[in-house]
Amino acid sequence: MIVVGAGPAGAIAAYHLAGRGYQVLILEKDYFPRHKPCGGGLTYRALDLLPFSIDPLIESSIHSFRFTHRFKKEFIRHSEQPLMVCIMRDRFDQFLVDKAREKGADFMEGIKVSGFTETFDKVLVHAEGQEFAASFVIGADGVNSLTAKTYLLNQNIRKGIGIESEVRVQEDQLERFRSMAGLDWGTFVEGYAWVFPKADHLSIGVGGPVGLARHLKHYYFRFLESLHMGDVEIISFRTFPIPYRTGYSRLQASRVLVAGDAAGLTDPMTGEGIYYALKSGKIAASVIMDYLEGTTTHPYSYRQRLEDEVVSELLSAFPLLRIFNSAPALIHSLMRKKSRLWRGFCKVLRGEVRYSQFKDKMGRYSFLWKPLIGLATMTELVRKMNFKAKKLKKA
Ligand SMILES: Cc1cc2nc3c(=O)[nH]c(=O)nc-3n(C[C@H](O)[C@H](O)[C@H](O)COP(=O)(O)OP(=O)(O)OC[C@H]3O[C@@H](n4cnc5c(N)ncnc54)[C@H](O)[C@@H]3O)c2cc1C
Repeated sequence: MIVVGAGPAGAIAAYHLAGRGYQVLILEKDYFPRHKPCGGGLTYRALDLLPFSIDPLIESSIHSFRFTHRFKKEFIRHSEQPLMVCIMRDRFDQFLVDKAREKGADFMEGIKVSGFTETFDKVLVHAEGQEFAASFVIGADGVNSLTAKTYLLNQNIRKGIGIESEVRVQEDQLERFRSMAGLDWGTFVEGYAWVFPKADHLSIGVGGPVGLARHLKHYYFRFLESLHMGDVEIISFRTFPIPYRTGYSRLQASRVLVAGDAAGLTDPMTGEGIYYALKSGKIAASVIMDYLEGTTTHPYSYRQRLEDEVVSELLSAFPLLRIFNSAPALIHSLMRKKSRLWRGFCKVLRGEVRYSQFKDKMGRYSFLWKPLIGLATMTELVRKMNFKAKKLKKA
């Protein structure tokens, strides 16, 4: 097997395949440990997917959220139970690759895959003038996936854009965010700003649609200013795309499967992608093993499994996103006043409730779901049309 890309999707797929005794080669274009622009927020459902502990990598555990709406109306909500943990991606990704290597996977770094050729029973992977043959290829090569482009597996994927920075702050400010994440919403029609605490600094970032990319930097600095943190040192500042799947489409071409960001598997509500990378990497490995071990005669069950277990859930986030985008001020105020909404937010983060269950939670009012979504979609459209960059400057 060849795995292209050593992010969470590729490393976990390699871990499972190598663990079952298959010969696995991971080809990675960068040298590890490498920086990946990412908030490093890891939910409990992502942790549950890991077959080993990552305790030494945990930089902080989040119990509270500080919410603001357009930098104002601040309030903090607490949870008894931890909601998520924060990790640094360079250490986390290196750790996962090491685990795959312990199971017997080979890892070649600094090798950029440049193309593929199909033969009767193999895929030839071309990289840096070399050729590697595999029975199956898992394209886990991220948002700009060459694998997905080559095999036209990049349909129905839209891109958002995020800025991620690592910021050194004074000790008292670090203490202020010790087990607390920060969220600002409502400034853009879509998107939000966040703070995630790490052991000795903060990760601060903003995300939004590509169309608003030129305003993101301004939003970032306004957000940073609004945190009133005194002297800060920005140690890294990167812009990077985030893929969102907007519909069903092919995820496999014969012996080539795509997983993680390469398959556009990021939550359109929150931007969470590590969970979906781990989940799809694991499913890809399991489908290949089932086929080779004769449990299934159908190598194409990957699409079906991924649609059932991942894509359908991601797509059911869109109606909720419409509702949120149509009335962020209202949602912000309800989040402060209604414990039920806060508990729902916590349950989503903890993976205890799925987006697809929200409609059912309306109980006898579920007949109002469709009109509500219709109204929200129209309101969101009007908000988008009215959005002017000057509003951002006035915020
Ligand atoms: C600003 C920002 C903040 C985010 N914050 C969070 C967060 O807090 N929590 C969360 O869950 N998700 C977050 N995400 C999403 C998350 O980072 C991704 O969803 C996740 O990294 C996807 O993992 P992956 O393994 O699919 O791809 P990646 O982690 O992108 O790994 C792909 C790997 O493939 C390699 N590669 C690419 N092309 C080639 C090639 N041709 N040959 C060989 N190797 C190649 C790359 O070098 C890379 O190492 C964030 C994303 C952004 C942009």
